Amino acid sequence: MTATIERTSGTKTSDRVVVIGGGLSGLAAANRIQQSEKSLRRPVEVLVLEAKDRVGGVIATDRRDGFTLERGPDSFITNKPWATDLCRRLDLDDQLIEAAPTFRRSFVVRRGKLAPAPEGFVLMAPHRLAPVLSSPILSLRGKLRLLAEALIPRREGLGEESLAAFVRRRLGREALERLVQPLVGGMYTGDPNNLSLKATLPQFLAMEQEHGSLIRAAWRRRKDADARLETESSGARYGMYVSLADGMGALPRALAATLRPGTVRTNAPVRRITRGPNGNGWLVEPLNGPPIEADVVVATTEAHATARLIDGVDPSLALRLRGIPYASSIIVNVAYRRDLVRHALDGFGFVVPTIEGRRILAASFLNVKFPQRAPEGTALIRVFMGGESQPELFDLDDESVRQIVAAELGELIGASGDPIFLDIARHPRSMPQYVLGHLEGVEAIRRKAARHPGLYLAGVAYDGVGIPDCIRAAEAAADAVVSRLADPGSIAAA
Ligand SMILES: Cc1cc2nc3c(=O)[nH]c(=O)nc-3n(C[C@H](O)[C@H](O)[C@H](O)COP(=O)(O)OP(=O)(O)OC[C@H]3O[C@@H](n4cnc5c(N)ncnc54)[C@H](O)[C@@H]3O)c2cc1C
Repeated sequence: MTATIERTSGTKTSDRVVVIGGGLSGLAAANRIQQSEKSLRRPVEVLVLEAKDRVGGVIATDRRDGFTLERGPDSFITNKPWATDLCRRLDLDDQLIEAAPTFRRSFVVRRGKLAPAPEGFVLMAPHRLAPVLSSPILSLRGKLRLLAEALIPRREGLGEESLAAFVRRRLGREALERLVQPLVGGMYTGDPNNLSLKATLPQFLAMEQEHGSLIRAAWRRRKDADARLETESSGARYGMYVSLADGMGALPRALAATLRPGTVRTNAPVRRITRGPNGNGWLVEPLNGPPIEADVVVATTEAHATARLIDGVDPSLALRLRGIPYASSIIVNVAYRRDLVRHALDGFGFVVPTIEGRRILAASFLNVKFPQRAPEGTALIRVFMGGESQPELFDLDDESVRQIVAAELGELIGASGDPIFLDIARHPRSMPQYVLGHLEGVEAIRRKAARHPGLYLAGVAYDGVGIPDCIRAAEAAADAVVSRLADPGSIAAA
């Protein structure tokens, strides 16, 4: 076997880190390790192995007929600094673009019509009451129940609560079904009955704990500048989201460009990892090609993929990793001539409550949100389908997806005629669901992984699904790798 191993045995003059997965997390980790090389005792060779024929993972930007298509994520939040900081370090700051200042609002579908989300209603906290009271989205009974939130005592003890249970308890069933489920569900493509509040949106739990009520907490927070920014918009906090002028794909591209030539190998799926000779280090076994010796492995793959990699080494760790459920989703970018869409498109898009019984989850009006993404006189609509609530839609063929999108957009925004194009991007088992017990599950995963020196886990599965969270986790894993490599005692004799 040694003959086929990709490394010369004998005296080591460098350390080798193999990063598995070339999505944002893998690239950010590789970048950080190479940037930190000066603090190491000897050179470090970093290798990123990516299964697909391109890096970026779920982030993918395409160009077509003058349009910029985001086939994955389309923006990221700025109140968590790690993504904007990375953009600055990559000299991408002049590329950062904000959502357009006009029409910073979103709609919620009610009985087949688009109604504006109440101004100042941020995910699940009403920062202003007048817009909630005048909104057509809730019935009078639903509004009175929501107002009663200020009088409901905080919950003490009693274990973990689902997002849905929390919202039902504090704001009432109607606010959950008509507002919170579609607004939050779109972010996680998940079912709020299963999602853990403390793992997904702990800030709302903290609002209840600190102020006794979301309404009272929101009122107090309106006083500080940050909250004022949040309340400028409705539904989502558009003022706090940015994208990149050339599309989100510019971020993994810029990261990959910082890496030394030969660092990234695409079309390089890894089959499994095993312990190295005499239990030192690791052997990374690609599906095609000889095993690769590594001092350190950083797995940034989806939890289910990481489970397959590690199964032979630690089945109990693999079992825990498999316990993180994933949802599959479809993003459809569809472009129309503007005059073929009847709706004024005077917002950034709409979300669809599950109880509306429709076959799409949400849609963004990209030509309004980021006008530079679409030529004049056109409408670029980005539609989400599938997710945890409608997994069966993921398996439909392209023609069925096409028909659903045309029918739903026809009914909801009056889109008619043939689109200029319709592009379908599928994301199989790409969005982890932080369900009840997620934080304890991740703690157990970390404890078990710590039994394997030189193995690090990062990626979207564990500590936050957003782009800034992924970057923070990848950089933290990279820093831990660098500390390990910098400490001569920590790696078994080579
Ligand atoms: C549809 C969708 C939309 C999203 N939109 C947003 C958004 O607008 N804003 C936001 O902040 N966040 C968004 N997110 C979350 C965001 O995608 C993540 O924060 C981040 O991009 C995940 O990066 P990652 O590298 O951890 O995972 P991934 O991008 O999933 O990368 C994992 C990589 O590992 C590779 N891989 C898997 N198995 C193997 C193997 N055996 N060998 C080698 N390679 C392997 C995969 O091919 C993939 O490239 C969205 C997520 C999804 C799914």
